[in-house]
Amino acid sequence: MARLSARGLLVITVAALAACHAPAQPPPAAASPPLPVPVAPAAKAEAPPAPVRTAPTRPAHLWPFTRLQDADYVSVDDLAKHYGLKTAWVKMGFARTLADAGGVRFKFESNQRDCYFDGVRVFLGAPVQFHFGELWVSKLDVVKTIDPLFRPEDHLAQLPPGPPKLIVIDAGHGGADPGKQNLKLKLNEKDLTLDVVLRLKKLLELQGYAVRLTRSEDVKLAPEQRTDLERRAAVADEVKADLFLSVHFNAVEARDAPRVSGTETYVMTPQFQLSSTDNNGDSLTKTAFPGNRQDTANVVLGYHLHRSLLESLKTSDRGFKRGRLRVLCFPTCPAALLEAAYLSNDTEAARLGTPEFRRQIAEAIASGVQAYSATLAGLRPAPTPPK
Ligand SMILES: [Zn+2]
Repeated sequence: MARLSARGLLVITVAALAACHAPAQPPPAAASPPLPVPVAPAAKAEAPPAPVRTAPTRPAHLWPFTRLQDADYVSVDDLAKHYGLKTAWVKMGFARTLADAGGVRFKFESNQRDCYFDGVRVFLGAPVQFHFGELWVSKLDVVKTIDPLFRPEDHLAQLPPGPPKLIVIDAGHGGADPGKQNLKLKLNEKDLTLDVVLRLKKLLELQGYAVRLTRSEDVKLAPEQRTDLERRAAVADEVKADLFLSVHFNAVEARDAPRVSGTETYVMTPQFQLSSTDNNGDSLTKTAFPGNRQDTANVVLGYHLHRSLLESLKTSDRGFKRGRLRVLCFPTCPAALLEAAYLSNDTEAARLGTPEFRRQIAEAIASGVQAYSATLAGLRPAPTPPK
């Protein structure tokens, strides 16, 4: 994968650059206006009136917050009250769970950038804080991650009107760019991504989706890496895709290779939030990218993809993460980048070398897409068929 560099910002539009002068903290979230209520046309005397259909939505919640370390934070206690969950300290002053009758839903830990939702590791933009005998979560993380995950029905106005129909899948790298490599096992990322993508295309088509690929052969899309990556994202916009998925495999330096393995899923970092691998932020942190139009859908999509990959592959959970990656900055449809396994880890790379594991990865991604589609479909009632 390629992180968008600060230097790359030079090519971004003047409008994006202007956003760099925006205040460091986001303005308080305004309550979204309720969805307009469709009004049934006046009924003729002989016909019964058509039923009025409304989307099940609630006005956005205004979170009570406290200013801590120059940012707004919501207490875990207030989160629990709002969601009707019971709180318990797992470790006093350090780790707290929020549970319902079915079990633990959230787990937060002091000083951690990640939390757990329904057992899945979810990265936040800011560490959880311990203050006044309570844990606090950044309000931006509550609004942009926690609430869309737990209550997607409260965000209907920001979600696509229904499940995706046309999906663009991107096999990372290609041609002269091999991507990550495991030289011992003679494995190139570019070959593995293409193999998985071709399998995934067939599966999604069987499920009824239309699928377009950014590449179906061993080629680059442009000679330079920057334009190659932007070209991949542009394909999604050109065909007016409803979803963009970029398939990759990760690697670390040789000294870390034996201990680093597992699955990561990335979606675009919200404006003003730190990416998961970023501790300080830079000018890009304040920039609103086209990819930010789908912040809410990206959370729902990324979570379901990550969950599906973990459940199927039984890999270690390296987290549902955020990144200003070039292929995520520019698509205007919901988009995710998948790093299902580590090529630098010989055990995991050996699995990647088998068609069986690559089939499993493709199936897990297809299941994740189905879960995302089912969530979107379940949020709005299906239209009544004409009689
Ligand atoms: Zn890659």
